[in-house]
Amino acid sequence: MSNEKLTPRAENYSEWYNQVIQRAEMADYAPVRGCMVVRPYGWALWENIQQSLDGRFKATGHLNAAFPLFIPMSFLEKEKEHVEGFSPELAIVTIGGGEKLEEPLVVRPTSETIIGYMYSKWIKSYRDLPLLINQWGNVVRWEMRTRLFLRTLEFYWQEGHTAHATEKEAEEETLRMLDTYTRFAIDDAAVPVIPGRKSNTEKFAGAVHSYSIEAMMGDTKALQAGTSHLLGQNFAKAFNIQYLDVNNELQHCWTTSWGVSTRFIGAIIMTHGDDQGLIMPPRLAPIQVVIVPIYKNDEERNLVMPVVEKIRAGLGLLRVKVDDRNEVTPGFKFNDWEMRGVPLRLEIGPKDVEKGSVMAARRDILGREGKSFLPQENIYESVSALLETIHTALFERAKAFRDSHIFEAATYEELTQAVQNGWAYAWWCGSGECEDRVKEDTKATTRCIPLDQPGGSGKCVVCGRDASEKVYFARAY
Ligand SMILES: [Zn+2]
Repeated sequence: MSNEKLTPRAENYSEWYNQVIQRAEMADYAPVRGCMVVRPYGWALWENIQQSLDGRFKATGHLNAAFPLFIPMSFLEKEKEHVEGFSPELAIVTIGGGEKLEEPLVVRPTSETIIGYMYSKWIKSYRDLPLLINQWGNVVRWEMRTRLFLRTLEFYWQEGHTAHATEKEAEEETLRMLDTYTRFAIDDAAVPVIPGRKSNTEKFAGAVHSYSIEAMMGDTKALQAGTSHLLGQNFAKAFNIQYLDVNNELQHCWTTSWGVSTRFIGAIIMTHGDDQGLIMPPRLAPIQVVIVPIYKNDEERNLVMPVVEKIRAGLGLLRVKVDDRNEVTPGFKFNDWEMRGVPLRLEIGPKDVEKGSVMAARRDILGREGKSFLPQENIYESVSALLETIHTALFERAKAFRDSHIFEAATYEELTQAVQNGWAYAWWCGSGECEDRVKEDTKATTRCIPLDQPGGSGKCVVCGRDASEKVYFARAY
């Protein structure tokens, strides 16, 4: 607990990021290098993310289940691209109960293989399709360079796995879940994202193609905030996921997988945070409203506290915290909750009691401009409306920031300039060589080929050949 100033973002963005996570008690480093401990305040945000996504998954017909943490090594080897992609990151168990295992077990890096294996047992006929299952859990990927929430050895996520009778249905599902993620990001996290298709070099190991939502962080780097993959029949063939069609002929299924992880917490921190600390998007904020009573003595306290209680009760189901600590000053509390990003603070002092009002201070607009008086009457309505206003303002601010850092690049020169302090939006021929050259020269990679294309055609910004699609190039987390 401290009111110490954070390192300003402009001075050292990654230092600011680490400090804000630690000071706000979102997460901590675990004794094993690269692992993280998610603390209650960080986990509360994750629970709200889970709740929002879970509701959306269920509304689109998905059910939750749980699959094992351990996967036989041979399962991963069944899909060539999959094992090649994941091999360098695998944690493998070779001893169990003091005995050397007959077959090494992989700690799941993702569950396509084990779920594919189970689906091959469960799916018999077209009547069993589509099969729409989601799993909430943790996975392990042995990463070399780690950052809290963004890249850790173990992280939490959801992974949806579906099987369909036709390619068309599988592709529809892939895009439906991409859209679900887009709606979640915009409507609940106030994070503007661009949905699009990944290039072949950036796609998931084993997918036919991958889609992602891409967000711009406060330092203009891109962050892949969710992915949805069309797996084609790759896993169906590797695991014999087959069904009898209406003509009683055996067919391979078409499968998909899609995921959002605790990485999204990093996206929220870096999209909205400022030099004072976190700014939680109101719909996901662990604490939406903090009430700080203001009094100088017992007499004032006795006047103020009943009103504080009345207001807290009036706020109903909103997530409210009353900060009645006696050992610290109101000023300390203001800084503390600002650092933790609580979207709205209500101050109630003797004058407010007299006037039948409360002072509301917005986290997204610090200082006088963000303050207003609300009547104590109908407090739920006025506070809810203010939280909505904050949500919209956060989204608009992030979108304006992003859009002012996306640059159309017609020449290679413009491209290399653009990715120094933003994203480049340019025609691209689709070749991996052109991607490689950009990466070597600038460290930027293709982020996504946005679904929303301008139409027509142009010349590849790298090689000058004909190009039919535009792509975003950016440095990324
Ligand atoms: Zn090219």
